[in-house]
Amino acid sequence: MMTTKNKVSEISSFLDEVFPNVGCELVYNKDYELVIAVMLSAQTTDISVNKVTPILFDKYKTLEELANASLFDVEEIIHSIGLYKNKAKNAIAIAKTLVNDYGGVVPSDKDELQKLPGVGNKTAGVIRAEIFRIPDLPVDTHILRISKRLNLVEQKSSPLDTEIKLKKLFPKETWIKLHHQLIHFGRYKCMARNPQCDGCKLANICNKK
Ligand code: SF4
Repeated sequence: MMTTKNKVSEISSFLDEVFPNVGCELVYNKDYELVIAVMLSAQTTDISVNKVTPILFDKYKTLEELANASLFDVEEIIHSIGLYKNKAKNAIAIAKTLVNDYGGVVPSDKDELQKLPGVGNKTAGVIRAEIFRIPDLPVDTHILRISKRLNLVEQKSSPLDTEIKLKKLFPKETWIKLHHQLIHFGRYKCMARNPQCDGCKLANICNKK
């Protein structure tokens, strides 16, 4: 039976081979745009978010303009994505909070980030890793599914349980890269339905029959 150390090494080598250079697929130009884009991406695809954020950030060119935006207008712009009503409220509220409480600067502290409306542990981790390159390994639906298929965590594990376990298994300097690699693997090969298992080099450690 393969040891956990060997399994981790095999997974890392495989991901480095298949996804040597992957990163965040959300399009943004300013730090606060990423915060809002990540918040908008909850339970929807990055592709959908990338269709609406250029329109949003073109209409409201500064944080102050977005803070004073009409809720109806923001809803209109982002209505094609899931949960748009709540997300429109959060987008304006994030802009207001950043302007009023943080001098317009996105904080790097995880607790401070989580004070922004609609920003939880996962979103804060993504923002810290992407903007500040602070090692983190936030767990989304793809990472959770793959971690369970590869028996890296127990089947009943929550996203937070999984984050804690993965952080113990993989070296800190690989967390940011690993986060993106696992998401890409989940999006394009190890999908929830009909994963491309033919020829998958991880089939020997995967529990999907
Ligand atoms: S064998 Fe299939 S389900 Fe298992 S890791 Fe590979 S692609 Fe995913």
